[in-house]
Amino acid sequence: MRVDIISIFPEYFSPLDLSLIGKARATGLLDLAVHDLRTWTHDVHRTVDDTPYGGGPGMVMRPEPWGEALDAILPAGPPARLVVPTPAGQPLRQALAHELAAESHLVFGCGRYEGIDQRVLDDAATRARVTEVSLGDYVLFGGEVAVLVILEAVTRLLPGVLGNADSLAEESHAHGLLEGPVYTKPPVWRDRGVPEILRSGDHGRIARWRRDEALLRTARRRPDMLATLSPMSWTNGTSRR
Ligand code: SAM
Repeated sequence: MRVDIISIFPEYFSPLDLSLIGKARATGLLDLAVHDLRTWTHDVHRTVDDTPYGGGPGMVMRPEPWGEALDAILPAGPPARLVVPTPAGQPLRQALAHELAAESHLVFGCGRYEGIDQRVLDDAATRARVTEVSLGDYVLFGGEVAVLVILEAVTRLLPGVLGNADSLAEESHAHGLLEGPVYTKPPVWRDRGVPEILRSGDHGRIARWRRDEALLRTARRRPDMLATLSPMSWTNGTSRR
């Protein structure tokens, strides 16, 4: 997958050299470039913002540098997908992460201040699919952290990135449930034991226990998820549930 990120703070993305994303880049599964929006400014102060039309507090990102940046980065060929984080976007969910992971080229545009002049998105929509994505119902300083989150959610779905792809089938939100509690060695820690069933070696009972724990946890913590769950998820689930 090819990924381009446009931001006025390219330094925000240095963690993308680390861990599994760093490895995905090193092995060529992810071809990622970060671009400084100020590259496409032409004044001595490298200005990217101005006061809002209609008045009001804060500044708005000017359209000219964004237009030039997207002209340079959005390919002329098959349409790329432009992803713009904004609190007014569609909520980031696992289904959207899967959708984005199926793309061959993602371009991320990081807003700052009060956001990007609307004409930039309207213009980009004539030559790319534009998706505005929200991390949740709160407001961040800028889109950089949102892009890091979206990229983590997307990259781990790319074939070959996770050491054991089974993890994807067995985790929270894969089947509309939260994953239940997990345990490792030692069998007793601070007088707290691991549930006996997990040490029984009976894979059928372990799978049923895990499914029950997943249902219980989801019911307690996210009853809203149970309301939309398909009956198949209650019965079949995965090999672990
Ligand atoms: N004036 C905007 C509004 O009220 O919708 C908020 C602008 S915010 C201070 C600056 C930038 O942070 C946004 O353009 C967006 O890129 C990013 N951002 C803030 N909150 C976000 C969220 N919940 N999800 C995704 N991006 C967000």
